[in-house]
Amino acid sequence: MTATPASAAEPVTILRVAVPSPLRRSFDYALPIDSSTTPDILQPGIRLRVPFGNRELTGILLEVSDTTQVSADKLKPAIEILDQTSLIPGHLLKLWLWAARYYQHPVGDALHTLMPTGLRGKAQAGIKKRKSDTLLTGTTELDHPARDDELTDEQQRARDAICAAHGAFQCFLLDGVTGSGKTEIYLQVISDTLARERQVLVLVPEISLTPQTVARFRQRFPQKSVAIMHSGLTPRQRLNAWLAAAQGEADIIIGTRSAIFTPLARPGLIVIDEEHDSSFKQQDGFRYSARDLGVIRAQSETIPIVLGSATPSLESLHNALSGRYRHLRLTRRPGNARLPVTRLIDTSSQTLEDGFSTDLIRAIRQHVGKGNQALVFINRRGFAPVLQCRDCGWTAECRHCDARMTLHRTPVHLRCHHCERREPVHTHCPECQGKAMLAVGMGTERSEALLQRHFPETRVIRVDRDATSRKHELDDLLAEINQGTPCILVGTQMLAKGHHFPAVTLVAVLDADSGLFSADFRGQEFMAQLLVQVSGRAGRADNTDRSGEVLIQTRHSTHQSLQMLINQGYHALATQLLDERRQAGMPPFAALAILRAEAINAGAPAQFLSAARAQAEDLLGQMPNGHQVQISGPLPAPMEKRANRYRQQLLLRSPQRADLQTLLPVLCLQLEQMNTKRNVRWSVDVDPQDMI
Ligand code: ADP
Ligand code: ZN
Ligand code: ZN
Repeated sequence: MTATPASAAEPVTILRVAVPSPLRRSFDYALPIDSSTTPDILQPGIRLRVPFGNRELTGILLEVSDTTQVSADKLKPAIEILDQTSLIPGHLLKLWLWAARYYQHPVGDALHTLMPTGLRGKAQAGIKKRKSDTLLTGTTELDHPARDDELTDEQQRARDAICAAHGAFQCFLLDGVTGSGKTEIYLQVISDTLARERQVLVLVPEISLTPQTVARFRQRFPQKSVAIMHSGLTPRQRLNAWLAAAQGEADIIIGTRSAIFTPLARPGLIVIDEEHDSSFKQQDGFRYSARDLGVIRAQSETIPIVLGSATPSLESLHNALSGRYRHLRLTRRPGNARLPVTRLIDTSSQTLEDGFSTDLIRAIRQHVGKGNQALVFINRRGFAPVLQCRDCGWTAECRHCDARMTLHRTPVHLRCHHCERREPVHTHCPECQGKAMLAVGMGTERSEALLQRHFPETRVIRVDRDATSRKHELDDLLAEINQGTPCILVGTQMLAKGHHFPAVTLVAVLDADSGLFSADFRGQEFMAQLLVQVSGRAGRADNTDRSGEVLIQTRHSTHQSLQMLINQGYHALATQLLDERRQAGMPPFAALAILRAEAINAGAPAQFLSAARAQAEDLLGQMPNGHQVQISGPLPAPMEKRANRYRQQLLLRSPQRADLQTLLPVLCLQLEQMNTKRNVRWSVDVDPQDMI
């Protein structure tokens, strides 16, 4: 073996490599020993096999250098170069690295997760065509006919503005009420982009990527190839879609969150539909925001990006109002479709039958009687959220979490929705031996049972995670709903988002109150978005006989935010919430990061975070604007104990994003060294979606 002489006159070649490891650093290697490697293939982004401890791993070359901190006798040669050319275009690798740095995730681990599984090992990259491939061409049955309607004036203005941005970076907020024809605008702008031989990347929320969505794109562009990317693909399918995008074979790439990292050979446009949706932010591990990275990416590729929503996030709305994004508004539904009429049902002084008021049952009867569909929204799975002893008030709680067990009926059991622990249902109270065990509160299964009792002749379709756990179950249910025969849908937010159900004329929200009093700083924003989105499923048909009605049950019908939302609409409430955020110094008027710690030992997380706080204060003391960064905590997480681990958090808040970005990399390195015993699991969440 030839040792690398660090001080010799002869220049050395050092390979700086991102290796899948939880450490926040790269690793240096020498060239492979029997290498016939020529310098021109040593491009950043190529994969190589390297020794790591006593293992052999696949890493990604970050750069070639002629210096290293590693002493000559410790420097190991790489084992093998795997790629002749980089599979990741240079600007995309920059985005990957930017994301790892911005979200404070270890670079090797970040890059490893961004590679399709098929390329994480030694395999060579190549497309293998299979029968049921992810690359689609040709038409499908038309359940959503292509329209030759004239665009409305508003639509036309929006389309023209976006098309005019071709070949330049510009961010558009397409802010249009539900059913206003946003998707129609995407389709027309995409058509324009494809005509210029450019590729389009479309991001949709996790549960919207259904055959219906895909069919709508395929019908419009029968001659083009569409690649689909989501978590349900096999590694082979995913790799094929990835390579088809990278090699320019796919014209349209439709995917969920992680598709934002897909290489494109000829990028032309990025569309992010339902940009407010929280599924665009990854909630564990590498906690990136696909929406925010979309904007960064569009900028680095000098292409336009469209963020579309009927209920824009306060961040995007603020950017549009301050002129950073171009604000395009669609205020009405085209054709004969009208926005639904919304009414509150105050339930504070009514006796409810399993959560339903008599007004609500009557309304459902009317709508279904006319041959339409009714949708009942309830944001809780299972039969009832609480099992309680009538005599002493005891409730069934999870042994591993600070949470109650949810009662399920099919099959009968208790389940914790936070750690998935299951238990048989108690027949006696463990506290007082009483036999009267009550199911308290409402879940989707209970609503389903009640509706079936009241409407024995009508099909009741439940849509929630339990009813759709198997492959195709959700697709099958959506297909059934879209046949348009009268039925009652009952379900969670899986029903609330993005779907186009033309036969639904009544939307009922069983209980709006949990959202009104959420402790989270985004609670009201989320509540408003959810109510507007679920309401937007009503009255979407181009037919005046099918105008929509929305009924919202609440015990607080005079609540100011709710009143404002119903009477003045989402934008009025959003403007008020933005004012409140400005006054409170919360996002988008400040940047946040949460440092989370958890451990089996109850005291360890707070101890770790107190030390972290001291170190952060020390570092801030050395920064010119350090005094502007506020630290709160350590405080117990809203659910302190989950899955047998105790959890604490430290909140960092700064008027300037840059100051947090200066602090965090240094702090994280120090914490990594402090926690060498690994008795505490810790993570950083930059731009957190919620505090939970
Ligand atoms: P959104 O994406 O804003 O929810 P869609 O694009 O799904 O709205 O449009 C809602 C319905 O209106 C669809 O059935 C669509 O085909 C129809 N539509 C869209 N634009 C027009 C138009 N200019 N004239 C008539 N119907 C339209
Ligand atoms: Zn009891
Ligand atoms: Zn639990």
